[in-house]
Amino acid sequence: MKLDATLALKSQNLSVPFSCSTQMGRLELSGEVVDFEEPVHISGSYLFADDTYFITGTLKSHYRACCGRCLESFVVPLELSFAEEFVRRADDEKPDQYVFEGDIIDLTEMVDDLVVLNIPIRHICREDCRGLCPVCGTNRNITACGCATDEEGDAQAGARRPFEALAALLHDENEEV
Ligand SMILES: [Zn+2]
Ligand SMILES: [Zn+2]
Repeated sequence: MKLDATLALKSQNLSVPFSCSTQMGRLELSGEVVDFEEPVHISGSYLFADDTYFITGTLKSHYRACCGRCLESFVVPLELSFAEEFVRRADDEKPDQYVFEGDIIDLTEMVDDLVVLNIPIRHICREDCRGLCPVCGTNRNITACGCATDEEGDAQAGARRPFEALAALLHDENEEV
């Protein structure tokens, strides 16, 4: 994904619009696999001033990820805005800047960084996803399997509803007395 930035280089402070897209394919990020089934689109504008390209815009796409609770794959929208700088020579004191050569801005590294930094470590398909039954493995969003788990220290349910889990524990103890 390269921009021919000759026009901006010749006319300083001239804002030049651009839009382009690239395929990301399958990415593995700290053990989490995500699939970009459609291209990543970026659009915005850039201008050249003070020996620097200033580039701003938005990045949009969708990717497929697996829910950390029920393990079903689902589509996650990705949309973010960015403002980055490209300079001729890397400066150790400004590690966020990217480098350009000649009059070409290569956006590949910037797009990779934006995508990687904005994909969460864990995905949950929906707020109230009930996850898999720890006893029989049934997806509890689809079927209520009837296993006795909620009262017996189901770690996931307990973490989401700590007081309900506690109340259930206390209830059990009372029954035993
Ligand atoms: Zn889920
Ligand atoms: Zn079950």
